[in-house]
Amino acid sequence: MNKFLPLLCTLLPIAPGLAAPTNTVPPRPNILFIMADDHAWQAVSAYGEARHLNQTPNLDRLAHEGMRFDRCFVNNSLCGPSRASIITGTYSHINGFYNNSNCRFDGSQTTYPKLLQQAGYQTALIGKWHLESDPTGFDYWEILLGQGIYYNPPMIRNGQRVKYPGYVTDIITDRSLDWLKQRDTNKPFMLLCWQKAPHREWEPALRDLDFDHDRTYPLPETLFDDYAGRGLAEHEQDMTIAKTMRMKADCKLVAPGDLNPEQKTNWDAYYEPRNQAFLAKNLTGRALVEWKYNRYVHDYLGCIKGVDDNVGRILKYLDDTGLASNTIVIYSSDQGFFVGEHGWFDKRWIFQESARTPLLIRWPGVVAAGRVNRDIVCNMDLAETFLQTAGVPIPERMQGRSLLPLLQGATPADWRKAFYYHYYEYPAFHRVRPHYGLITDRYTLAHFYAPDVDYWELFDREKDPGEMRSVFGEPAYAEVQTNLMQEVVRQRQVLKEPDVEDPKVFGQTPKKP
Ligand code: CA
Repeated sequence: MNKFLPLLCTLLPIAPGLAAPTNTVPPRPNILFIMADDHAWQAVSAYGEARHLNQTPNLDRLAHEGMRFDRCFVNNSLCGPSRASIITGTYSHINGFYNNSNCRFDGSQTTYPKLLQQAGYQTALIGKWHLESDPTGFDYWEILLGQGIYYNPPMIRNGQRVKYPGYVTDIITDRSLDWLKQRDTNKPFMLLCWQKAPHREWEPALRDLDFDHDRTYPLPETLFDDYAGRGLAEHEQDMTIAKTMRMKADCKLVAPGDLNPEQKTNWDAYYEPRNQAFLAKNLTGRALVEWKYNRYVHDYLGCIKGVDDNVGRILKYLDDTGLASNTIVIYSSDQGFFVGEHGWFDKRWIFQESARTPLLIRWPGVVAAGRVNRDIVCNMDLAETFLQTAGVPIPERMQGRSLLPLLQGATPADWRKAFYYHYYEYPAFHRVRPHYGLITDRYTLAHFYAPDVDYWELFDREKDPGEMRSVFGEPAYAEVQTNLMQEVVRQRQVLKEPDVEDPKVFGQTPKKP
């Protein structure tokens, strides 16, 4: 009756000392993958970040009823590249989507939606896609134009342009629920509900503008980082709250142009008196940075409140229809985000706030409730997880690994101990130099190699969790450094990284300094 169980016995040896999974895997479960855009793990309350930035009760429900992954990383911390890697299960140098400035996704590649569609799943993508070419492998797709806008967003539905009034997170959820309601109930489904929020410029639902009652947010310890102890890349970047964050659009001194008159009235009723009070103070220096930080965090967390509330709507629908018991629900983000750490917003770096992303998976009857997993997992693992779950053979080309044994509570003995990372885009938009490296449970190794630089950094996160001081070259770390540098060479070979790159992978021709 179930061809999948013998496969499991062959592929998933149980590590010595670990209990065998008690749960069997039901055949062809539904897959509902909700992904946010730029949602920092620090802003999911289930992760318990020290600042207690916010409460996300619906996301926390997924953690409490399923598994919370504490070490999930992305291979290239940028919207388009991470999405291309998620959909193909491959690194950027394999799928060809290196950056957001000159890449177009080759939709003829093998992706898990295509393979699931061929295996009889109904497949749908609703929300932000941002890979330039039309989606392939979906029975139904409805995507935002490019990056998308927050209010009254135009969308493209199976090739036809449509426009909906309202707030983008609500609309993507409405469209997802509508699709679920009309689907063929005789077939399993795979729905990708990919939200735009909380991407820059962080514009919340108008009903949520006063959600925090003018709270003053705790400052991160490193808001005024001077980048001492690190190299040229950290000193040269252009992504600080102090200098890069714009007063008008980012800090809401000017309303976005896509609001209708009624929406504009509601927007102004919230922001105008607060903006006037701010302007009257003539803040400068640190006080100005602290004000910008607070406005940014308010807007960012307001967007996340909209995502969390809409995840609650989806979970309620699954409960009400009885779908919850045979539907895997995945919540993740295309990468992490800096919420003021190092004085930054945005992502891109190999550092923990950026390369690490939230991952919550609920699968009743298979994943024991309330489990926490600390193995090193990644965005590319999802493709193989979905395929194995559906009983579909995994293509050789894919470079992740199925999470199914981890979900069942039995990590294979040969699970990865070091994760390879590679970021390319430079100089636009934030002048973060291309770098590659490794992340282990304790160390971060980074090689900044272009343009016209060649230096390494090593961080001991056990002693320096904020990654503030590179210990590369220090005698005490000689052995660790040698081992990690050998491992990064080995992984580059295994992953088929080219030795010499075409400068086009950076997105723009790098300028000579
Ligand atoms: Ca993103």
